[in-house]
Amino acid sequence: MAASAGGLAMAYSAQAGAILTGEASKPALLGGRPVRTKPFPQWPVWDASAEEHVLSILRSGNWFRGSGETVTQFEKAYAELLGARRALCVVNGTNALLTAMHVLDVGVGDEVIVPPYTFIATYNVVFQSCALPVFADTDPETMQIDPDKIEARITERTRAIMPVHILGQPANMDRIMAIARKHNLVVIEDACQAWLGEWRGRKLGTIGDLGCFSFQNSKHLPCGEGGAVVGNDDGVMDRAQSFHNCGRPYGSVKGRGYPIIGTNRRMTEYQAAILLSQMKRLEADTAKRREHAAYLDSILKDVPGILPQKVYEGGRGVYHLYAFRVKQEALGLSRGRFMEALRAEGIPCSSGYGPQYRDGLIEDAINSKNFKRSFPAARLKSYREELVYPENDRLCAEAVWLTQNLLLGTKQDIDDIANAIIKIYENRGKLA
Ligand SMILES: *Cc1c(COP(=O)(O)O)cnc(C)c1O
Repeated sequence: MAASAGGLAMAYSAQAGAILTGEASKPALLGGRPVRTKPFPQWPVWDASAEEHVLSILRSGNWFRGSGETVTQFEKAYAELLGARRALCVVNGTNALLTAMHVLDVGVGDEVIVPPYTFIATYNVVFQSCALPVFADTDPETMQIDPDKIEARITERTRAIMPVHILGQPANMDRIMAIARKHNLVVIEDACQAWLGEWRGRKLGTIGDLGCFSFQNSKHLPCGEGGAVVGNDDGVMDRAQSFHNCGRPYGSVKGRGYPIIGTNRRMTEYQAAILLSQMKRLEADTAKRREHAAYLDSILKDVPGILPQKVYEGGRGVYHLYAFRVKQEALGLSRGRFMEALRAEGIPCSSGYGPQYRDGLIEDAINSKNFKRSFPAARLKSYREELVYPENDRLCAEAVWLTQNLLLGTKQDIDDIANAIIKIYENRGKLA
């Protein structure tokens, strides 16, 4: 199972360049020379076409979407890119999810099946809608919601499944859609990390009833703050358009004044101009990240105790994060010590999501007036007792993440990452 020292050294020299000798072989954490001192590529990256476009909008004074065409233009281009019928821009990914829930009538008193291993917004939107996020434990290999754990969590209140394509790799959409159909549930894909990710050739975010995206600064298609809801049902998308614009008539939402209740989640024109320019680089960046992630996978598979995130057969990821698990028994180092050593070698990394269900927000929600009115006390009690997710707890204790910009440079950057990890492995005795 474990690669021999010779096998690893061979992988090291053949794939990742030179075997380090002398000072360079000593861990940086113990005073040796770091593998890398250069920074990785910066994110985001802007270009001159955005500068001209944003300036022209600035000078026109037509900053809101009602007085321009830029947001509409981006919506059309983004829908086309994904192979979706429609896209609607909103202020951010969180509000994209809230909009999707509202127009699919998922809300007060409902239960929504979600993964525990996700950005906190996925929990928050369900709580904010006065619904209960019911967690299905994590599949540790893929880090996605475990489809085998979903059905046991369905109750008579369950209305929706909200799979998250976490870290940019797909959730198992075959299984999720089959469960949803069987139990008559709607599916809202949280694709806020998965622009251009795929499931059996279809783009993530276009498979469920609605898909939601984020265009926040750190995301692959950024404009500071922004988001989109994507869908194929004109009636639902008309409702979303109307809802996000104060409930004004739109398409099949007819009438005078304000025929439905609404809110204001409109994107500004200059944000859409930035998105149009960012979209030009999305496909090439995605291809580069995939190539570099596959190359890093091919090296790390031989390092004992380092287990890269797996992607389900039929899926293609986009690597918003490159993640692996550190198995302390096999590596001979704790995750904390490994990360310290990796950072010392010049490779930034993070430990990712913690067990957020213990942070306090669950108690905050279920002790609130709104939750007490919306759910029977017995359900809130049993919900609290269900908050046991051993696989997710273990993943939270073992994961290491590298941010997407680390994959956007050269092959030499990936060799540096691999060399640093192998150097740590080879020095595990001294570092422990
Ligand atoms: C970023 C993100 C969101 C929220 O998007 P914002 O634009 O930051 O509101 C939701 N879900 C996931 C999984 C995300 O990564």
